[in-house]
Amino acid sequence: MPAPLPDTLTMLHRLIAAPSISSATRSLDQSNLTVIEHLHEWLEQLGFQTEVMHIPGHAGKANLIATLGTGPGGLVLAGHTDTVPCDPELWRSDPFFLTERDNRLYGLGTCDMKGFFPLAIEAARQFVDQKLKQPLIILATADEESSMSGARALVEAGRPLARAAVVGEPTSLKPIRMHKGILMEGIRIQGRSGHSSDPSLGANAMEAMHAAIGQLLQLRQELQQQYRNEQFAVSVPTLNLGCIHGGDSANRICGSCELQYDLRPLPGMTLDGLRNAIGERLRPLSDRFGVQIETESLFPGIPPFETPAQSELVRLSEKLTGHRAEAVAFGTEAPFLDALGMDTIVLGPGSINQAHQPDEFLALDQIKPTVELLRSLIAHYCL
Ligand SMILES: [Zn+2]
Repeated sequence: MPAPLPDTLTMLHRLIAAPSISSATRSLDQSNLTVIEHLHEWLEQLGFQTEVMHIPGHAGKANLIATLGTGPGGLVLAGHTDTVPCDPELWRSDPFFLTERDNRLYGLGTCDMKGFFPLAIEAARQFVDQKLKQPLIILATADEESSMSGARALVEAGRPLARAAVVGEPTSLKPIRMHKGILMEGIRIQGRSGHSSDPSLGANAMEAMHAAIGQLLQLRQELQQQYRNEQFAVSVPTLNLGCIHGGDSANRICGSCELQYDLRPLPGMTLDGLRNAIGERLRPLSDRFGVQIETESLFPGIPPFETPAQSELVRLSEKLTGHRAEAVAFGTEAPFLDALGMDTIVLGPGSINQAHQPDEFLALDQIKPTVELLRSLIAHYCL
């Protein structure tokens, strides 16, 4: 006989005790397979059909698609299995040991967002003996905090498909139907160094970069005139010049210069459209300054996300939570699930204020309302 399914807190305890940091910094990056194996085991025990999807080109990383019931339509409850890195010395308790204190559960990933899974499982438990008209899918992804390789692999595979998807990121149980996208880009300019006393001896990469920055800032101004959405705390698209390196001494013509910047587009703007617009503006500078200009994407980017206010899922979650759907400033996997054709919102327990911080916690009073909310959503979409 299989072991009985652990209770909610035991499940959360095991997920927190399985480190699954994902990071673009290689030395910090860890596998998420232990978390996937736990979820796999528990969901299989409940009678879900499970599939572990290994991520091509990312050893030790996998998604889990667990499905209860069959047929088209249905509901996806989605979460990511990875966490950001942490600074254990700044924590009051071990980040990898679930600790209850002051009616809160402390641990790395409690709110962002391993804590969502035991609550989704608890909600699903009630439906395992019922005949579902449309399937319930619990989706666990890899690498949300770094490359989003898990979500990208899902889009590539064209799965899962359902009518609706809820991404259980910490939103204090308020529905979110919009967020900005994120681009992080670099510009590398290669000129020619020479003695500073005679400019004709070289090609100054820093002067070319100065012109490139001028182009970026002008583009920013134009975009901010063209696009505005008052639902966002910062209502316009932003472009931040983040770091710059170039040259080596005052009396040498600067031979090379490198800039990194980020861009946060509003819904309605596309990542490719922005990259093309930037490329076109930089192109003439090569000839004008006699330099080579290369652009690169520091990561593939996250598209902006928007689900219409009138959508069935937005309306339903507004009714169930008593909150109007809003916009947030952080990026999620929602645009990838949206790209698969699902009506998608971000809605989950815990606060983003506690995410990515020492002493991350999930308040105990979030548990019951979350389970009840998820049960109502499952009943609406699957029964
Ligand atoms: Zn998250």
